[in-house]
Amino acid sequence: MNTALNLAYHAARAWIDGLDDRSVAATAGLSDLKQCFAGPLPPDGSSAQDVIRALVRDADAGMHGSAGGRFFAWVIGGGLESALAADWLVATWDQNAALYSASPASAVIEETAGEWIKELLDLPRDASFAFTSGCQMAHMTSLAAARAALLKRVGWSVEEDGLFGAPEIRVLTSDQRHVTIDRAVRFLGIGHNAIEQLKTDGDGRVSPAVLDGALSENSTPTILVLNAADLNIGACDPFKDLIPMAHSAGAWVHIDGAFGLFARASRTYRHLLDGVETADSWATDGHKWLNVPFDCGIAVVADRNAHRTAMTSNASYVAPVTIARDQLDWNPEYSRRARGVPVYAALKELGRNGVEALVDRCCAHCASIVEGIGKLPGAEILARPTLNQGLLRFVRPGASPGENDVFTDETIQRINATGEAFFSGTTWRSRRAMRVSVVNWRTSDQDVKRAIAAATSVLKSEAATPVD
Ligand SMILES: *Cc1c(COP(=O)(O)O)cnc(C)c1O
Repeated sequence: MNTALNLAYHAARAWIDGLDDRSVAATAGLSDLKQCFAGPLPPDGSSAQDVIRALVRDADAGMHGSAGGRFFAWVIGGGLESALAADWLVATWDQNAALYSASPASAVIEETAGEWIKELLDLPRDASFAFTSGCQMAHMTSLAAARAALLKRVGWSVEEDGLFGAPEIRVLTSDQRHVTIDRAVRFLGIGHNAIEQLKTDGDGRVSPAVLDGALSENSTPTILVLNAADLNIGACDPFKDLIPMAHSAGAWVHIDGAFGLFARASRTYRHLLDGVETADSWATDGHKWLNVPFDCGIAVVADRNAHRTAMTSNASYVAPVTIARDQLDWNPEYSRRARGVPVYAALKELGRNGVEALVDRCCAHCASIVEGIGKLPGAEILARPTLNQGLLRFVRPGASPGENDVFTDETIQRINATGEAFFSGTTWRSRRAMRVSVVNWRTSDQDVKRAIAAATSVLKSEAATPVD
């Protein structure tokens, strides 16, 4: 039966089965892709089968194999089988998971998934939560709650009166923060100028002395944003020291734990995040270390009232219920897909022990890649992973730092061009570096060997080429 759905199923199966053999990097360029997809709006339609056949045929070469085990750029997970299958069902059921009354099963499954996440990450069990589109929107949701709570304390209702004429808020945050913090601050009308950057120490962490200095400067209502694993080296701020200081100064503490919060599931790594549970809000992702398909962030907020105040909506026709959880009381969207369902599936497939094994395995693989490439002639280790993130740099004898920046970027490009592994570059302490980020459940020992072999062959051929 060649229905569009069957075609899509077979294409999906072939995609997954082919991940080991295809080039990890997309092989089609912009002009190839434009040739396939750009053009005028068709005046008449075509059959659903033809649409899917053409999509499968034309999109393939323009896709990175990021769902596979040798994609180490940025922080991108793959889809666990149960989570991917559940995601298909979510699309198929096509529920509006805004309210219990609009999709009873979705509401209950998402509520359970949220409770399980708090348990897994060992966050306060009475905290509220929301499944958002990503960590970006989880920051926005959490910081909207922070804004509501801080301004309420000084007698201002931002929900009623907006921000024109409101008391100021300042945002203290690490110089190693992710850019989504700045965007959330901007979306919330607080503005970039309210951000005060805290200088990190040699380990990439905000020190108590630096925080103390910033807190004692003035008494403006303050949001402190800390890293539960920064994007370059996975550094976690010293929560046990910083959070009590911030709280005694009346600050709201928000945690960016996009991937790092999942280290809480590992007995080996959770000590890196000791004390993080005493913060006021946490943002993380399902689509990174938990390996559910994209479109899944998670906000958790200790002050349920502040969270609800910031997000709830009342309209006469929505029939709110008091017996069940309505997602729109906690989420910034209105109509929405039940993106907590793949989280439920992933947690059920893995269980607590499976998440722990996934975290431990990724960290071990990251260490093996960093050590394996780091010992090659022409490579240097900039940051050994303490978690699942490490940094390498490529250098030529006698070259200037600037020349080695260029050489590092070129080497990354050449490794990616082998199709055997895919890495991204970053600027860290003013130098270009290659990031090694491992969060995919599929990454195996064999994948690690192939990635190191790809770097070996590129560095060998570069060594044979004279410096110009
Ligand atoms: C990926 C990432 C984000 C942003 O998450 P999205 O899901 O892309 O919105 C924020 N912070 C850190 C540390 C990240 O790694």
